[in-house]
Amino acid sequence: MFKALFLQKNEQGEFKASIEQIDENQLPETGDVLVQISHSTLNYKDGLAICNKSPVVRQWPMVAGIDGAGTVLESAHPNFKPGDEIILNGFGVGETHWGCLAEKAKLKGDWLIKMPAGLNAEQAMGIGTAGYTAMLCVLGLEAHGVKPEHGEILVTGATGGVGSVAIALLSKLGYTVVATSGKADQTDFLKNLGAAEVVDRKALSEPGKPLQRERWAGVVDCVGSHTLANACAQTKYGGTVTACGLAQGMDLPSSVAPFILRGVTLKGIDSVMAPLSVREEAWRRLASDLDVEKLHSLSRLLTLDDAIEAAGKIMAGTNIGRVIIKI
Ligand code: NDP
Repeated sequence: MFKALFLQKNEQGEFKASIEQIDENQLPETGDVLVQISHSTLNYKDGLAICNKSPVVRQWPMVAGIDGAGTVLESAHPNFKPGDEIILNGFGVGETHWGCLAEKAKLKGDWLIKMPAGLNAEQAMGIGTAGYTAMLCVLGLEAHGVKPEHGEILVTGATGGVGSVAIALLSKLGYTVVATSGKADQTDFLKNLGAAEVVDRKALSEPGKPLQRERWAGVVDCVGSHTLANACAQTKYGGTVTACGLAQGMDLPSSVAPFILRGVTLKGIDSVMAPLSVREEAWRRLASDLDVEKLHSLSRLLTLDDAIEAAGKIMAGTNIGRVIIKI
């Protein structure tokens, strides 16, 4: 038997999230690597799944948890052997395949990456999909030639998991970061992470003009909707906007003006199905570029029993930084 955060729907469609003991024989047969999970985490998507807020889970019942880190117990995959330390992010785990908010998970070896040198399981889950997505955004800015000397970088949804890691990464790389946040009382937290300035998120979240005063050399946007539209409208000639999130909304009430008049690039960021080579590069950069002390300062360590309540805080928008779940 193993302990897991179990999501169920009965025949009447009533949803239940609970901590259960599950028989190991029920683990999905499609996995070829059995992993003892030592740490997992809570991302926005885990919040959606655990609180049944949007159709993240597409098979029932489901073990929650889109991220995990731990030790291989058994492997039928050529790249992994018992004792290997691994990280899993996404690939539909916790959505269509039983996830990692559990003592054990049976995963596909093709989805796993080896723990990079310099990181342990707790730190890797302090990063999680949120931090790895932040790194994908940074790589997206770099790939489009955005350099520290080009000017300020806007990070929206700043106190969240993606935003907070993005600030820590960008400031360590020498960029000047301006953060937008709805939490005025977290200004010191954001400045300690490396933000040069913190702006009330209302400044960007209301409908705005198609072209506005040019300010940003680059953007990491975690919230979508009017915020993303305004961010594009304020991006400097030739700048790049990376779009990874939808905390404000899925819509994009924008115009083509920033793209056809200022050559702005809108770069979409997907962490879930990103190819292994991209993941390995992102994790290698995280191991070298993320200040471990800053990571520690933005992470809280909770247990599996705390996870359901903590997921509610993510959905209420009151979460700050990253939540690590020690299994
Ligand atoms: P969090 O819940 O940790 O952070 C989201 C932050 O957005 C909040 O802390 C808050 O920051 C801000 N926010 C919340 N509600 C609103 C609102 N109504 N309007 C404007 N801002 C708001 O989530 P994550 O950081 O884990 O994820 C951020 C987004 O990125 C999510 O939408 C998530 O689904 C997406 N994501 C996408 C991935 C991909 O592969 N593309 C991977 C991972 C995440 P503040 O109070 O500071 O403004």
